[in-house]
Amino acid sequence: MTIPTQLFVDGAWHESRSGRKTTLINPATEEASAEVSAAQIEDIDSAVQSAHRAWEGGWRSLAPGKRTEVLFNVARLLREELEQIAQLETLHIGKPITDARDEAALGARVFEFYAGAVTAFHGQTIPIARGGFDFTLRQPMGVVACIVPWNFPFPIACWKAAPALAAGNCVVLKPASLSPLTALALGEIAHRAGLPPGVLQVLPGSGAAIGETLVTHPLIRKVSFTGSTDVGRRIMELAARDIKRVSLELGGKSPNIIFADGDWKRAAATSPMSVFANTGQDCCARSRVFVERGIFEPFVEAFVASTKTLVVGDPARPETQLGPLVSSGQRTTVEEFLTDARRHGSQIVCGGGRPQSRGYYLEPTVLLGVKNEERCWREEIFGPVVCIRPFEDEAQMLREVNASSYGLSGSLWTNDLRRALRVVRAVESGVLSINSHSSVHVEAPFGGFKQSGVGRDLGMAAMEGYTELKNVYVAET
Ligand code: NAD
Repeated sequence: MTIPTQLFVDGAWHESRSGRKTTLINPATEEASAEVSAAQIEDIDSAVQSAHRAWEGGWRSLAPGKRTEVLFNVARLLREELEQIAQLETLHIGKPITDARDEAALGARVFEFYAGAVTAFHGQTIPIARGGFDFTLRQPMGVVACIVPWNFPFPIACWKAAPALAAGNCVVLKPASLSPLTALALGEIAHRAGLPPGVLQVLPGSGAAIGETLVTHPLIRKVSFTGSTDVGRRIMELAARDIKRVSLELGGKSPNIIFADGDWKRAAATSPMSVFANTGQDCCARSRVFVERGIFEPFVEAFVASTKTLVVGDPARPETQLGPLVSSGQRTTVEEFLTDARRHGSQIVCGGGRPQSRGYYLEPTVLLGVKNEERCWREEIFGPVVCIRPFEDEAQMLREVNASSYGLSGSLWTNDLRRALRVVRAVESGVLSINSHSSVHVEAPFGGFKQSGVGRDLGMAAMEGYTELKNVYVAET
């Protein structure tokens, strides 16, 4: 597979009309790793128009069995290219190769799931009071803009594009400017697998430059966005003008709640990677840990001991668990949070420094004594930083958990079934796990409460989100 570096429109590679390029920097070496065409406003209309032609010209009405066949073929070709896809992420965004391999496989799995879902997704028949026959249709919307972030570029591109395509829409995919290559690879592979030209367009470029033009284009019927809450808010405002459909997967500040009756030793051993994986650049990072008072000290000791065993370093090595942050700017942002924590007198019990001079690395950092009003407690840090605090009273702890403006993910550790169910109901978040740190399952809905977003990715819920619901009544007399 050749490494793609241009816009992928209508089944072919194109330079951006302005000739502008983005230089990618390998965050592990701080050296330039590739030059990629950067779409500008003048590239948007033709990409959206051609997606719309592809939709009207046949994708919307293709027999479901044919759509299944093409999407399974995409998955098959993706599986042949998993290693190449993984290497692209490691080289250009510093993702540890073992994680990059898992994420590439996840992308293929997503296509398999939605290929199968095409014919398992259906409307209803409804026994209405006056008699007659009533049924619902799930119809594709048209052209959908899928805007994705840089932290999980490949799987998120797949988990937006695959259900949108499976439901019969065409897609304009906009990857983040730091991580365009695997989205471009997806466009090329999907085309080779039999997706007709125009059905999946890929426009690399800066969100600030082209995002709003794409979102407000009159032929875009839905915007499916994953990224920061601030940009999500702006997209929702813009979409409101034409009542466009939106789904927004935004930031998080997820809790990890440890009760003394649970297997807290296992929780302490595994919790560091629930916040430090992907170097903390994870919307589901369990960055606020609440530990029942009786086990607080041994828990912190075990958590810190486990943190100190994490392998930070060259993302190309299979044993590496934490690579660099994605950019110099991202590291500076995270370090500003640590400066604020120090200023407030919070205690840094491990980490906080740069482990080596080259590459945008930062040590995994554990904070104690962080107060409610501090930035580290309230805001999404998106770096390898965790705050741990004790609790005595369950109700008070739940008030603190829910005081966040976010509500994406979280874990709780207990062996008391009644308590588990009580806490699950009380926590305001879209995704929770009991005695586990798992958040993402291809088959199950994923998304947030409150300012973590609206709508759901993954599972059959995502298919629903890419269709309009039509009700049809048939008189029988
Ligand atoms: P970002 O909001 O800066 O960018 C996300 C995408 O939006 C990129 O493709 C970007 O180019 C584009 N964009 C930027 N400005 C735009 C605009 N005005 N109009 C339209 N598009 C625009 O986010 P990021 O820095 O790439 O990613 C980090 C954020 O993403 C974090 O807040 C994280 O929590 C969130 N995130 C959420 C989830 C989730 O599923 N909830 C998953 C991953 C990341």
